[in-house]
Amino acid sequence: MLTAVVGINWGDEGKGRMVDLLSSEYDVVVRYQGGNNAGHTVINDRGKFVLNLLPSGILRETTVNVMGNGMVIDIAHLAGEIRNLKANGIKVTADNLKISDKATICMPYHRELDVLEETRLSHKKYGSTQRGIAPAYSDKYLKKALRMMDLFEKDTLTGKVRELVEWKNMLVNKGYGASEIDVEETICWLDENSKEILQYICDVTSFLNKAADEGKKIMFEAQLGALRDIDFGIYPYTSSSSTLAAYAPLGSGIPAKKTDKVIGIMKAYSSCVGEGPFVCEMKGDDAISLREAGAEFGAATGRPRRVGGFDVVASRYGVLLQGPSEIALTKLDVLHYMERIPVCVAYDIDGQITTDFPTGERLLRAKPVYEYLKGFRRNISDCRKERDLPDEALEYIRYIERAVGCRIKYVSVGPKRDDIIILG
Ligand code: GDP
Repeated sequence: MLTAVVGINWGDEGKGRMVDLLSSEYDVVVRYQGGNNAGHTVINDRGKFVLNLLPSGILRETTVNVMGNGMVIDIAHLAGEIRNLKANGIKVTADNLKISDKATICMPYHRELDVLEETRLSHKKYGSTQRGIAPAYSDKYLKKALRMMDLFEKDTLTGKVRELVEWKNMLVNKGYGASEIDVEETICWLDENSKEILQYICDVTSFLNKAADEGKKIMFEAQLGALRDIDFGIYPYTSSSSTLAAYAPLGSGIPAKKTDKVIGIMKAYSSCVGEGPFVCEMKGDDAISLREAGAEFGAATGRPRRVGGFDVVASRYGVLLQGPSEIALTKLDVLHYMERIPVCVAYDIDGQITTDFPTGERLLRAKPVYEYLKGFRRNISDCRKERDLPDEALEYIRYIERAVGCRIKYVSVGPKRDDIIILG
């Protein structure tokens, strides 16, 4: 059984918390794209953990966690995450963590290039998290990246690094005018940080294929959401990878397998990190209230997130791209303070009303058309059954379900593992 857990919106939908909840039923959890440019926050009985790279299943004793070929991995960041978990008594061994030998290494010079370019762009920047993700993916497709398997080949690694650094300096030093990248420092960085992680690197394809053939339950865990997909998202304000369920088997290392189930994670309102069009954005006091109620500050960067009401147009498009079998609606509890809940039901583009999500320049001209639903005006965090929910909350859920055309199975009413309602 292969299940993908993916974001329907702009990311930060609460995927980490849902994967943490659902992973008890799965034998294997796989991350298949992205790097440490976003983070999952998981709160469980062992504490609060922010995971930027490791799959969320790492917090469960018996789950095997895989980092797939589709990822770009900053090995210093990864080594730090592993150390932090171990310091908190979480087991991380070669039995419960497997890193694809084909995953791309995100190097310090990738991070530097990210910073140099965002600085050069100044007010026209894309809102990169400056973790080197886009430069690392670019190198992958230029076929100039180092991959995890290279770390085992000490003899050839040094030569490869020399050549790459010489090439990078043409851009860093001669192009941007920054000081030269040092070859020895780069080699030291690789040496230092690979010590911790070499033990986990292997050919994950054979492991995953065997697990799938034996009928093991495998979960693919996505980072970010549909609207950040490199092909179908709000380009160029996208991530550099595919955030879609369709990419899960490919980015994991089992391209011939198909997912049996897709669980779409969708937030009860909207939030977005970084630049780019965000049609349903709230401003002023409304934004401050929602941001504070939802604690909308980036897990990886601490940046305040932009917030708004639920966006039917964008979310329906997200559903179209991900093809979920069922949806988990998260953070419904956050809306408890609202007297009336705004829902963006259509876009007005140059005087024409549309419910189809536009990409490209037209999206920049879109204005939101709102409907308002009655607020439920009470704390719902302790509700555990459908019947515990106030009528207005149920109406909101059903309204959204109809609007996006997909069944809502889970409703999350708080950040903790059991703050969840499973709808009948
Ligand atoms: P992810 O990248 O999709 O996992 O998103 P985040 O890690 O940013 O998760 C969203 C944040 O909301 C985290 O701080 C979670 O602990 C929290 N969270 C998740 N679900 C809920 C919920 O239903 N209610 C509330 N109040 N917080 C939630």
